[in-house]
Amino acid sequence: MKCKLCDTLKEKESWNKQWMDEEWSAIPEAFGKLTDLGFINGSFLYQCPNCGLLYQFCSWNESFGDGRTEFESIRKLGPEEAKKYLPEGM
Ligand SMILES: [Zn+2]
Repeated sequence: MKCKLCDTLKEKESWNKQWMDEEWSAIPEAFGKLTDLGFINGSFLYQCPNCGLLYQFCSWNESFGDGRTEFESIRKLGPEEAKKYLPEGM
């Protein structure tokens, strides 16, 4: 069944911005609707409040020439992976 809230997110989504920029480009709208669960078992996790699907959040930055670009991404976790991060019943 498709989730009306997070079905628009692909298996993996990423977006970026230049180091000095204020605005991120192309942040998926649905990302803003996910619940931030914080840092759990070594990963930053987000959860869809509608269907309960877990997302693993990553951020990093890379240097290109004289500029630096910041990246952020989220990845959908399958049921088996989700169990590693959240104990049963959450
Ligand atoms: Zn969902």
